[in-house]
Amino acid sequence: MELRLYDTLTKEKRVFTPIDPSNVRMYVCGPTVYDFAHIGNARPVIVFDVLFRLLRHLYGVDHVTYVRNITDVDDKINDRAARDFPGLPLNEAIRKVTEKTADQFQADVAALGCLPPTHQPRATEFVTPRADGRSDMVTLIKQLIARGHAYEAGGEVLFDVQSMPDYGALSGRRLEEQKAGARVAVDAHKRNPADFVLWKLSSENEPGWDSPWGRGRPGWHIECSAMSAAYLGGPDGKDVFDIHGGGLDLIFPHHENEIAQSRCAHGTPTMANYWMHNGFLQVEGEKMSKSLDNFFTINELLNTEKFGGRKWPGEVLRLAMLKTHYRQPIDWTVQGLQEAEKMLDRWYDAIGDVEAGEMSAEVLDALGDDMNTPKAIVELHRLAHPAAAGLAKAGLTRAGQKPKPRMLKASANILGLLKSTRSEWLARPGIESGVDRDAVESFIRARAEARARKDFKESDRIRDELAAMGVVLKDGKDADGKPVTTWEIAR
Ligand SMILES: [Zn+2]
Repeated sequence: MELRLYDTLTKEKRVFTPIDPSNVRMYVCGPTVYDFAHIGNARPVIVFDVLFRLLRHLYGVDHVTYVRNITDVDDKINDRAARDFPGLPLNEAIRKVTEKTADQFQADVAALGCLPPTHQPRATEFVTPRADGRSDMVTLIKQLIARGHAYEAGGEVLFDVQSMPDYGALSGRRLEEQKAGARVAVDAHKRNPADFVLWKLSSENEPGWDSPWGRGRPGWHIECSAMSAAYLGGPDGKDVFDIHGGGLDLIFPHHENEIAQSRCAHGTPTMANYWMHNGFLQVEGEKMSKSLDNFFTINELLNTEKFGGRKWPGEVLRLAMLKTHYRQPIDWTVQGLQEAEKMLDRWYDAIGDVEAGEMSAEVLDALGDDMNTPKAIVELHRLAHPAAAGLAKAGLTRAGQKPKPRMLKASANILGLLKSTRSEWLARPGIESGVDRDAVESFIRARAEARARKDFKESDRIRDELAAMGVVLKDGKDADGKPVTTWEIAR
């Protein structure tokens, strides 16, 4: 199969050609660890996990390096630490906040079925020169000053945007336009209002590191330039890598500034060959906002009943996210989650407990086309239920086609879905519309036993009892021809 990816910088879909197929290199901006990650934060994590899986499939599990950083130095973290642990010395309080939040993030994304990246560097470990010689922020800033791209002023080290003729190429914001709208008075120490902070001095009770410019802390953007170079520097020492990803909101200023720093420090024509950005997420048609009461963390969706009155399995959240193409805006709705859960019910019914087999060429082709997950999902339906009326009407299936459960499982696996068996899926925690799944499953088992001993009076009684609870049973056969009963909530 051929992989084509859309590149935000060149604004075109291109065939993906890695610099070194024996080590395909991808960097994705990770979380700032001061608070629970919200569902919008989950989108890039899931999207680039799918790309990571796809690259591993194409180039081999040991030939892909995926780096996702953890930003554990940020003024938002300082504020949170002072608020939550007022009795502690600030640095101790900061450590408590960042460790707790980072652990929570790892637990959240694991529940969404995401593989751990190859490296998850923490910014605080890359501020000053390292014993292992990997790239660090202070050295990078020194290089930028030495090459005439940065200067010291007003207690800061600033990047000089005018030293880079094509600054602004990623976001399409030209310097002249930015200058016109800026308020110069606030930033009197800057040569250009668009100049951004590489280093700033810390007061005594702020976190700080010793540097040639005094005790201070790094700006946000320089972190990613240092940590990407630390793990993704090329075999030729050229520091260009294959893919850089993140949310659309990071294009400006964060990625624009990463590009400026990395290219100017390393003297390279580009930082990464493909810039990939996932679209925005809104909730029930509105921009997510703490003030609108439509703000949901991953943890709340998984472990509380705040969204739609119930807990949601991580796999449902994952599928709901992948039903929309990653570059499109996504509307996150209770209905969307219900639909995703229904799809998974059907797919698990189709796979039973089979082992994964061959992968479907159609699914791979869909993913190869700039990760067209909605199309891949249609193909998965086809493998699960070739006779489904909707698909037949849409010309997607032909008479006589049989379900392909082993292919379905293998093909869904590359999306990080259908990793469990049907029995595990049915045993998942969670309640649908006030119906206790565990209770329904035990009723179904009792009914199957009654049927097996030909006690149809009892089996009908159980069916009626479930019907009274709003549960409709459907008897069918699994892939091996064994009788199987599925259920759904009557609408
Ligand atoms: Zn970044």
